[in-house]
This record gives sequence, structure tokens and C-alpha cells, in this order.
Amino acid sequence: MAEILKGKPVADAMKEELAKKVEALKARDIMPKLGIIRVGARPDDLFYEGGAKKTCEAIGMAYEVFEYPEDINQADFEKAVTGVGVNPSVHGILMFAPLPKHLDERKIRALIPVEKDVDCLTLGGAAKVFADDLTGFPPCTPTACMDMLHFYNIPIKGKRCVVLGRSLVVGKPVAMLLLREHGTVTLCHSRTENLNQVCREADILIAAVGRAKMVKADFVKAGQVVIDVGINEDPANPGKYCGDVDFAEVEPIVAKITPVPAGVGSVTTSVLCKQTIMACELLHP
Ligand code: NAP
Repeated sequence: MAEILKGKPVADAMKEELAKKVEALKARDIMPKLGIIRVGARPDDLFYEGGAKKTCEAIGMAYEVFEYPEDINQADFEKAVTGVGVNPSVHGILMFAPLPKHLDERKIRALIPVEKDVDCLTLGGAAKVFADDLTGFPPCTPTACMDMLHFYNIPIKGKRCVVLGRSLVVGKPVAMLLLREHGTVTLCHSRTENLNQVCREADILIAAVGRAKMVKADFVKAGQVVIDVGINEDPANPGKYCGDVDFAEVEPIVAKITPVPAGVGSVTTSVLCKQTIMACELLHP
């Protein structure tokens, strides 16, 4: 039976640490603040926003939601995002994506100042992550994966790390973060041959494919650590979520595994606050 790596203890420890940092900033009359930009009211966005607000409240930092109608035009939205960008009270910006189709998302993302880009929405932010510039912020989920590995004392240096999925929001940045810590990284995708065999070679397997329960028993071996990033509707239980890993098949085989829900996903809003506080500290050394 595998050790279950839950997200809550990781998030709780992080929140305790962050509350102290917020206190220290407040003692210097600085209030760290997260700005949340949302167009429309998609249920998933509202759910994540609710979690982010709760985390901000728990650690004593501020937040402000900048909400815009679904039919906002490009010019008005550009003006709005520029305004949030230059707002001196906002230290970190989360903007929900994808934006409605009529908006030019690439152009809008570029309006977020890199120093406030705490979820890696800009090309400048991504460049910093890929160049190991520690003033840049990876997307929150890859950071959450790394925070899980650190909290549970899982060695990375010299280990075979296989990342399943090459998106700019999870796969590529988490590969870079593993590489930064001297993992030997293989990045897999939909064209990878002998995928299950490649995954079986891993010491650490990170699954970020967006396919419910795709990672089966033949993808894993004894001794592995499996981090499941997937959030998918469970085909067997409509209305419930499941990961990219078939937990029932994989858990009896491997050494450690994150559950879904209650795994990586429980850590991301704490990471969002952590990165916003870091942005604030960089501005006020
Ligand atoms: P994405 O943009 O759809 O990327 C999926 C990646 O998986 C792509 O690189 C794709 O390969 C690869 N892939 C798809 N099917 C495959 C297959 N059959 N075999 C091998 N590779 C395959 O997804 P994402 O945004 O990275 O998200 C991945 C998962 O993480 C989703 O379940 C998402 O909901 C979840 N997620 C969770 C959090 C969190 O906080 N826990 C945050 C973000 C995302 P190609 O590039 O070749 O197409």
C-alpha cells in the first residue's frame, strides 16, 4: 500500500509561514494584495476564486476582484487590465483564462506587468522560469507539485523524472523546475512511443494529461512516487472528479501517490498567495 501524499498538510504549513510574512509586511505598513481579473462567471472560475479568497483571508492578506461582463470589448478590456497592472496596491495578478473568443488573449496577457505575473500568463514570465531567473513565477500548479515533493522529503537530484503532458501551464514548467533541482527529466506527450514503458522507468512520475484514469497499472512499478495533476470528470461517477491516474490500479503498486481530489489541487491557491507575497517582497526588499 502506498503512502498517500495529501495536499492539506502542505497547504497548512505554507499558510502558517505566509501568515508570518504578511505580519512582517504589515508591520512595515505594506499590505500584500492579490488582484483577480475575471470576465463572465464560469462556475470553475468562481470555484477557484472562492478558494483563493479564503486562502487570502486565512493568511491575512488582501484581495480585490476585478469583474467584467462576458461581452466586454477588446479596447475596454485592455484599458481595464492596464489599469489593474499599474494599480500600486496590487502586487500579484491572477487572470482567468481562456478569455471569451472575441478577445485577443495573447495581446491581453502581454499587458500584465511581469513583476505582478504570479501565475505565469506572460511570455516574459515564462522566459524567466525557463532561464532559472528566480524573480519569475511559474504557474501555480507546477510550483504546487514541487512544494508537494519538498514537503514529503522526496529526493529529486539525480532521479529519473517523467512528466506526462507538455502544456505551457503544467508539463513544460514542471519539467523545468525538476531540471532546476537536478532531476533527469523526460517530457512525454501524445506522440511518445511506448509511453507506458517510459513511465515505468521513472522514480517520480508527474501526470498532467487531462485524460481520466489514463495511467494504469502497466505504467508504473514498485518504489515510484506518482504526482497526479489531473482534474477530470469521473466517467464512472458523473459529477465527481478523478485524476489522470487510475488510483485503484496504481496505488497498490507504487510507493507514494497524491490523491484526486485532496492532492495537488489543494495546494494551488496557497501557492498563488505565496507568489503574490514574494512579488510584494521583491518590490519592498
Ligand atoms: P492540456 O493543455 O490539454 O495538455 C495535455 C497534455 O497531455 C498535452 O501535452 C498532450 O499532448 C498530452 N496528452 C494528451 N493525451 C495524451 C495521451 N493519450 N498520451 C500522452 N499524452 C497525452 O492540459 P493541461 O492544461 O496541461 O492540464 C492537464 C491536466 O491537469 C488536466 O486534467 C487539468 O484539468 C489539470 N490541471 C490541474 C490543475 C491543478 O491545480 N491541479 C491546474 C491546471 C490543470 P500533446 O501536446 O501531444 O497534445
